[in-house]
Amino acid sequence: MLLAEIISVGTELLFGEIVDTNAAFLARELGERGVILHRKTVLGDNLGRVSAAITLALSRADLVILGGGLGPTDDDLTRESIADALGETPGEDPELLAWLEGLYAARGREMPQVNRKQTWLIPSAEALPNPVGTAPGWFVRTGGKYVVALPGPPREMHRMWREQVLPRLPLPDHALVATTIHTQGIGESNVAELLAGLTQNANPSVATYARKTGVDVRVAASAGTEAQAHELMAPLLETVRAHLSRWTWGEDGQTLAGALGDGLAGRSLGVIEAGSAGALCGLLADTAGFLDAAVTGDHARLITLGLTPVTLRDAGLVSEGAALELAAGAREHLGADIGLAVVVSVTGENAGQVHAAISSAKGHKAASVNWPGDAAQMRERAAVTALALAYRALRAGGELA
Ligand code: ATP
Ligand code: MG
Repeated sequence: MLLAEIISVGTELLFGEIVDTNAAFLARELGERGVILHRKTVLGDNLGRVSAAITLALSRADLVILGGGLGPTDDDLTRESIADALGETPGEDPELLAWLEGLYAARGREMPQVNRKQTWLIPSAEALPNPVGTAPGWFVRTGGKYVVALPGPPREMHRMWREQVLPRLPLPDHALVATTIHTQGIGESNVAELLAGLTQNANPSVATYARKTGVDVRVAASAGTEAQAHELMAPLLETVRAHLSRWTWGEDGQTLAGALGDGLAGRSLGVIEAGSAGALCGLLADTAGFLDAAVTGDHARLITLGLTPVTLRDAGLVSEGAALELAAGAREHLGADIGLAVVVSVTGENAGQVHAAISSAKGHKAASVNWPGDAAQMRERAAVTALALAYRALRAGGELA
């Protein structure tokens, strides 16, 4: 078992001026490789605090990964901090010096003196070449443990992690497999209820995530080999699939619009959007069969597209009746096999109200949701509601299939 901690160094990280995406990247990388991560720390550019953090992390973990602070300036103190924590004295490495001077010479420049510290090493450190920057990393072996220092710029960090660090680490035999099931039309707490008990499992595991497109359910397992992990995951995955089948629209890399495209099975789709500012069209942009669309909130225009003045007067534009008339109108006036309409209000008393409807030669269906949020969220939710309705109606076994 390899236990790890991450220390991100940078005052701008500490104060929230930049977001620590490096630590998130490293955490995912470690998890996928069976390395147990117990802590992430963020510190400013301060030698004493970074050094103390390294000492503490080394007392608890086998692998300490530092990100940032490898630049040439006075506030780049990661090398000094590691040397301090380990009680070693840094010295210039002739090979690194020649490499860095060469890098500058190749651009017709002389290496500034401040860069000299980027050529430092301590006796227990091995330099990690940086193919895309001037800051080499450090790979330190100390008392059976490892300290790794990587530069802050993500492009450099990611590449050096994969190419230089991973091959040097004694990674456990480990394979992680996972399948994500995408659902729509059911809330996260209802999903949790349906899966009662299953989410307590550690391995294989089930976890739910609320996404813009609905609730995702991730089933995962880890084992010594990929085949063993699949074997471990299979029964649980089947159970979860069975529980969620009514709401499922796809798995893993599938998109809702792609799933809908399959359901269209060669038929053409016409869309009318009122209030959602083209959000539905945006999601459908790459869907085969998407024929034509009208995006308008103008009452007179909507009446030419199938909305009746009676519905407009009695129920209003943001109503199920209006959505149904416009779905039928999308077929008739846009010349499509399938008509899909969505109406949403993003302001006023009924803000958040969404009605979507679909119409085909086989019949029609409608769906409504009402959730708060800002205007962009409401438009997006309107679009997703319409897509999900269309997907459910048109999929194999659906009412309009
Ligand atoms: P350099 O040699 O470029 O100075 P460095 O190792 O000193 O690299 P920092 O100075 O700490 O790294 O950060 C350089 C830049 O890298 C930051 O301005 C930021 O854009 C990015 N960066 C640093 N740390 C992180 C992080 N944890 N997550 C995301 N980006 C980061
Ligand atoms: Mg820097």
